[in-house]
Amino acid sequence: MMDCQLTLPTILRRAESLFAKKEIISRLPDKSIHRYTYRDFAARTKKLAVALQQLGIAEGDRVATLSWNHYQHLEAYFAVPCIGAVVHPLNLRFSPDELRFVVNHAEDKILIVDQVLLPLFEKFKSSVSVSRVIVIPQTDEPIPEGYLNYEDVLAAGDESEFQPFEGDENTAAFMCYTSGTTGKPKGLLYSHRSIMLHAISLMLTCAGVGITERDVALPIVPMFHAGAWGLPYNCAFTGATQVFPGPYLDAESLLELFESEKVTFTGGVPTVLMSILNKLDADPQHYKLYLRTMALGGSAMPRFLVKSFDERYGIQVLHTWGMTEMSPLGTTAVITSDLENASKEDQYDHATRQGFPVPFVELRGRNELGLIPWDGSAVGELEVRGPWVAASYYGDADPGEKFTPDGWLQTGDIVSISEDGCIEIKDRSKDVIKSGGEWISSVALENALMGHPSVLEAAVISIPDDKWMERPFAYVVPREGKVVSADELREFLAGTFAKFWLPEGFAFIDAIPRTSVGKFLKSALRDRYHRENG
Ligand code: ADP
Repeated sequence: MMDCQLTLPTILRRAESLFAKKEIISRLPDKSIHRYTYRDFAARTKKLAVALQQLGIAEGDRVATLSWNHYQHLEAYFAVPCIGAVVHPLNLRFSPDELRFVVNHAEDKILIVDQVLLPLFEKFKSSVSVSRVIVIPQTDEPIPEGYLNYEDVLAAGDESEFQPFEGDENTAAFMCYTSGTTGKPKGLLYSHRSIMLHAISLMLTCAGVGITERDVALPIVPMFHAGAWGLPYNCAFTGATQVFPGPYLDAESLLELFESEKVTFTGGVPTVLMSILNKLDADPQHYKLYLRTMALGGSAMPRFLVKSFDERYGIQVLHTWGMTEMSPLGTTAVITSDLENASKEDQYDHATRQGFPVPFVELRGRNELGLIPWDGSAVGELEVRGPWVAASYYGDADPGEKFTPDGWLQTGDIVSISEDGCIEIKDRSKDVIKSGGEWISSVALENALMGHPSVLEAAVISIPDDKWMERPFAYVVPREGKVVSADELREFLAGTFAKFWLPEGFAFIDAIPRTSVGKFLKSALRDRYHRENG
């Protein structure tokens, strides 16, 4: 067979030649809608690639972006790796100190930044040493002195001089950092090969995602969060229309775009999908939707979410599990032939599990007794391997920390695995609640609480207890205009759980704190509990 390297210029060529007329649509910071075609995109991407080389970017150099999801960010996603350099999207919800840390750790050489995010950059610019800053113009204000204008830079690049990267497919193409909820962010390098194979996994209908040329895909998930789950690369490969929401991630703005651009596929964390459901429920006839699938990942699927979207709006919410360390797709809760004729309720139960490994990903679980049996009840830490799973962290002196001696990634997620290979995440190892030696799943309690009609959100943490060592404690956000008591919730849970699972206490709060990628931040709730309870 031919030795064809799996490198990103292949996607660029395909998008340009086969999908020249298909559109890429962006909502810009000034709220205007920008539209152009894959032909325009490819031409501008090549100009940017050449211009970056003229600015001194060579193979292996890192180019950081500090940007919302939009077309210029997509251009950087391709231009940088297509000349053999490494694109590094920065998490714009990081603190200035975290940003300083990752830019220095990655040794980013050039930064491409949204004009509307310059105030954030100003907060850490004195402590980083990028050689050039390229600003994407987005307002009527002039680009400040000392910075380059993205459009001027691009105009200086000659498309005909574009020399696509033709090196080894294992060369680094993309860099990102974990969101750092448990310490310093850790860097990961995705290779051309891993990105290409991962992009193909999103095309597979057997994995339930199955994005095709007919789709109109809108990644709600930011491009700095595990590469927007690989959607930008996948869509350019398949020719799916891409819609980027810019900075407007509130339910109303998203629903407007879903309707106006006839979006068929989207993906985001549960908190965002919950806000979309609430907005829809407030006026169910208001929007005409074309969505077939909403991929949910990042945190466990609340059961009411999959049920409500299916029953009320005919939209499938596909539960996926993954990690930044694995590009990120690991498993999907597809409906198998076994479940096809099952009752809707059984299908919803299945959808709350994290599902089956997608092709190329292998998994196993391990506890203190060794590898766990695939029996649906034994629990242990999930270990994974595959061609888009990281083998080490970037610049990490101790790669052994999260990897087994035989090279599997230790995920930190506690799971059971059914006989047919479906995983169910019970907890993250750091959130586990061990009460009197018995293990209690905070995920299961949260899921049940969020099924109560008066509860908007719930997070369950472990609190210390003299007798039982640890007990569960629930933080609950009531729905607007609803009042609910601890007794009522305890009674509600008692129908499903053993008595010792019931939370020791409930606290009613206005909002659950979020991580930089929109997940519940339980460490902040644990701190709050200790602050308030000594
Ligand atoms: P961070 O580790 O910084 O939160 P990631 O997005 O990489 O950033 O998080 C990966 C983790 O998110 C997984 O290890 C798992 O704990 C959690 N996670 C992802 N998807 C799911 C899911 N569908 N259900 C439960 N937990 C999930």
